[in-house]
Amino acid sequence: MHKQVIRIPQTILDDMIAHAKEGKPEEVCGILSGQGNVVTRAYRAQNVAEKPVVTYNFSPQDQYRIFKDIDEREEEMMAIYHSHPASPAYPSVTDLRLAFYPEASYIILSLARPEQPVVRAFRLEDGNIQEITVEPVTTQPGE
Ligand SMILES: [Zn+2]
Repeated sequence: MHKQVIRIPQTILDDMIAHAKEGKPEEVCGILSGQGNVVTRAYRAQNVAEKPVVTYNFSPQDQYRIFKDIDEREEEMMAIYHSHPASPAYPSVTDLRLAFYPEASYIILSLARPEQPVVRAFRLEDGNIQEITVEPVTTQPGE
């Protein structure tokens, strides 16, 4: 059964948005790991796509390094994120075509309205798009 909610600490969401802003006008990409449906860690990866303004492609070295680290921590790869510097937070035809991990959530950060970044998550499987809920987690002081 697929998870319908992905819980992401607010600090990690902030970091992903900062990453997207730093990379503008190119797309940035990264991986989120965690356990269950709770994200615990974000990894930035280099986008080595030929046309990084319109698509993304993980650097194989980064991907290897990240998967190895996730393995060593006995966590799971939970999500793949990338940014849309100027278009809505919705999977493009290319995103669908390049969705190789049906068990992962695909998170898209849109900076189409720079003052109001949008973060949405999807399952992409067999060309189907199913939105899932991103639930920000705020840690209570003293926790
Ligand atoms: Zn995209």
